Amino acid sequence: MDEYMEQIRSSGRRLTRQRKLVLEILNDSQEHLDADMIYDRAKSVDPNIGLATVYRSLALLKEIGLVQEHRLGENHGHFEKTQPTPHHHFTCLKCGRVIEFEAPQVIEAAYKLCENEGLQVTEMHLHLSGYCSQCHEGKLNCE
Ligand SMILES: [Zn+2]
Ligand SMILES: [Zn+2]
Repeated sequence: MDEYMEQIRSSGRRLTRQRKLVLEILNDSQEHLDADMIYDRAKSVDPNIGLATVYRSLALLKEIGLVQEHRLGENHGHFEKTQPTPHHHFTCLKCGRVIEFEAPQVIEAAYKLCENEGLQVTEMHLHLSGYCSQCHEGKLNCE
């Protein structure tokens, strides 16, 4: 946790109690929480915190690079602490299970594209959805 605090300070931002709380919630969670879920957890610690503050804290933590936002097939983002290697997500449409996977070939293809086309990519989303092994009816259709 300390290194994160340091990263916020060195970015010239103030580490308010609320920002620290939002970061702690993400730090303690292995899940992919959306803003409402983060808000619920934050409220149980600090009843005075507002949803707008949670959104602002998330935006700031994202800007500093401590937090990542992912689209998991819904029209709102899910947040998690930034991880050292880029990863992507599969979400099960039935049970909501999220499976993380790495796809270095995809990243490599993206790098090549940037190089060839002179692109500057600011966001990348690779998201799979469908049914997990517990939910689908036997037959896999990605064979
Ligand atoms: Zn499932
Ligand atoms: Zn993830």
